[in-house]
Amino acid sequence: MARLIFLGPPGAGKGTQAKLLAELLQVPHISTGDILRSAITAKTPLGEKAKSYMDAGDLVPDSLILDMIRDRLNQSDAHKGWILDGFPRNVSQASFLDELLQELNQTCDYAINLEVPDEVLMSRLLERAQKEGRADDNEDTIRRRLEVYRSETAPVIGFYRDHSVLTVINGDQPVQSVTEYLKQLVCS
Ligand code: AMP
Repeated sequence: MARLIFLGPPGAGKGTQAKLLAELLQVPHISTGDILRSAITAKTPLGEKAKSYMDAGDLVPDSLILDMIRDRLNQSDAHKGWILDGFPRNVSQASFLDELLQELNQTCDYAINLEVPDEVLMSRLLERAQKEGRADDNEDTIRRRLEVYRSETAPVIGFYRDHSVLTVINGDQPVQSVTEYLKQLVCS
């Protein structure tokens, strides 16, 4: 059983590490960004409402995100554990998750903060822009996402520090080194 939250700025490697660890632990990898991108591709009402915020690099309003995460954590595959990637993104989402987990009689085992210097993030995200062609990976939007991270998401780190489940990892190292560290952490 494992329940983990990945924190850290865009480009820190949350998605990569969350996916690898989810396979290893056999629990669903729940990325709110992926869910939103699928909704946009499928042109659902959620996708249509979320698109302009995502294209601008802003957070999608909580009113759209909270029901989405409640539904996802209530699905049967999430009963045995989960890895959250990209949620919670602000302190009110973190408080919501806290209450939701109490309702579900679950607790979060680890909140993992991947730390990476800004200049490394920028070059990683520009590289991803070329490889994956994500609409929000252009220089202006990346700058905006880093700003939003600092003002809205970074305070979530303090929230988990207070709840003593926070682990800080240097994300500025090869993918495999971070994965090794994580495996030792969750499997020990
Ligand atoms: P990500 O794939 O996690 O980098 O997310 C891409 C974009 O989706 C973000 O820049 C936000 O616009 C939106 N998004 C993803 N997760 C959330 C969330 N938990 N709350 C609000 N917006 C989100």
